[in-house]
Amino acid sequence: MVGVLVSGHASMTSRAETQKPLVVILMGPPGAGKGTHAGPLSGQLGIPHISTGDLFRENIRAETPLGKQAKGFMDKGNLVPDELVLDMLFDRVARVDCKGGYILDGFPRTIPQAKALDIRLADKVQLVVLNFNLPDAAIIERVTGRIACKDCGRPFHKKFDPPKNESICDACGGKLIQRDDDKEEIIRKRLEVYRAQTEPLIHYYAQQKEVLKEIDSRKEKAQVFHDVMEALPPIHAAAVR
Ligand code: AMP
Repeated sequence: MVGVLVSGHASMTSRAETQKPLVVILMGPPGAGKGTHAGPLSGQLGIPHISTGDLFRENIRAETPLGKQAKGFMDKGNLVPDELVLDMLFDRVARVDCKGGYILDGFPRTIPQAKALDIRLADKVQLVVLNFNLPDAAIIERVTGRIACKDCGRPFHKKFDPPKNESICDACGGKLIQRDDDKEEIIRKRLEVYRAQTEPLIHYYAQQKEVLKEIDSRKEKAQVFHDVMEALPPIHAAAVR
């Protein structure tokens, strides 16, 4: 049976399965809500949120060799080559805070990345893939309006979640900036890249039993988060009710 559920709990999850660490993969096009829900989800489940995009941006800020290599690909809206992503990600999930599970945001993005992750995870974890769906027009509107604090990372949206002062963070007073790759021409390119290289992963995970859950991101934010919680295996969803 192919495990594609719109929402609701996987009824056949075994006890042994629910005792394994939970690994949640947030999938979907840029701007579909992965980053928005990752933080609250991490807080609710008590497991870290790991965004490969954030890890690259930290490397760029710190001017590491990896950051310098990644920047050229990111600025053009292209994917960073798999070998650079895999080492960085596997180093991160080897840390002690990931022992009890973790949330992946922006990884995997290609079939080779998904296969490498499968090999690493084997059957040691309980895997859930949440696929966030949103039409392209809504994506462009969301992404081109988003801004974030340079210092604390708090996200805002010029139209949907505006800061009190246009360019200053409500939380810490830091400067609000737009990501270079959130400009319209780059986001269009990122969407193309998503369709060509990442969308095939939906089929890949649909073939794994009861792993893939669809999330309708057109709904209001609180409702989407509710659907996210409902899509988790019962023991994890119940823990936060
Ligand atoms: P994000 O913040 O997830 O939208 O990622 C921003 C950019 O970082 C992407 O457009 C890619 O250039 C790069 N990136 C992030 N994660 C990956 C990944 N798993 N594979 C390849 N490139 C990635």
